[in-house]
Parts: sequence; structure tokens; C-alpha cells
Amino acid sequence: MKDDCIFCKIAAGKIPSSTIYEDSHFRVFLDINPLTKGHCLIVPKEHFTNIYDLDAETAGKVFTLATLISRALKNVLKCDGLNVIQNNELLAGQSVFHFHMHLIPRYKGDGLIFMGEQKPGDMEEIGKIRDLLREELQ
Ligand code: 5GP
Ligand code: ZN
Repeated sequence: MKDDCIFCKIAAGKIPSSTIYEDSHFRVFLDINPLTKGHCLIVPKEHFTNIYDLDAETAGKVFTLATLISRALKNVLKCDGLNVIQNNELLAGQSVFHFHMHLIPRYKGDGLIFMGEQKPGDMEEIGKIRDLLREELQ
């Protein structure tokens, strides 16, 4: 537990939250500034800053839990879609530096846009990046 971390405190139950699910590893609660009805956050109880320091076991459990919560959101809220968003570092929109995954139910006409217009890439550049990443991942 990191003393100055709000999500450590929420996960430990020291700060109240609208919790919808809890087990020994995670707390899932409704976002206080919801983008849509049912916007919630999956938060591990252990402190990880973001995806770069998340361990493999927790990472797997996060996605397994995401499937369970997503089905509940669909069943209860009858949403028309759902986005899974996970922000890392300030530039990418991370504002709380304790790993969390957003589950954002989508509704017809909600107007949210997460990915702008996509254009065909430069295949030479895509090839160079592919080679660099393959080498890194070997
Ligand atoms: P990020 O921008 O880091 O990806 O997401 C942080 C999220 O945490 C935001 O959507 C924000 O509304 C939510 N949040 C920040 N503080 C609190 C809090 O005290 N309680 C709850 N329920 N959500 C919070
Ligand atoms: Zn924390």
C-alpha cells in the first residue's frame, strides 16, 4: 500500500467507493466522473503504477475479471457496446498512477469518440517498426 495513493486507499476500503465487486486481489467500483452510465474501474489491491510494472499473473486476472464485469454491465444496463480503456502515463491520459482498467458501457447516441479517424500508414515505416519490435521481443 502506497500512503499517498488514492486507489490504494479505495482498494483497501479506507476511502468509500461505489463498489460493485470485490475479491482478495481486486476492487471494482463506479467511476466518480462517469463517461457513461455504469463506467467502472477494475483496480488491483496491490499497487502497480501502470502497465509497465504490472506482473503477468495480475495482468491475466484483470482481463478475466473484465469479462465477468462486462457481461454483468450488459445484462443489467442493456448497453449497446462497451469500451475497455487503460491509460498509461500522463500523455496518454493517466491521471491516477495506480494501474486500473476502465470498462465504459456504450449507448446509442452517447457521442463518445476514443479513436480518431485512421488513415493508411507508410508501409516502409511500418516495416521498420515491425523489425525493431520483433528484435526486442525475441
Ligand atoms: P485515468 O485518467 O487515470 O485513466 O482514470 C482515473 C479515473 O479515476 C478517472 O476516470 C476519474 O474520474 C476516476 N477517479 C479519480 N478519483 C476517484 C475517486 O476518488 N473515486 C472514484 N470512484 N473514481 C475516481
Ligand atoms: Zn496505489
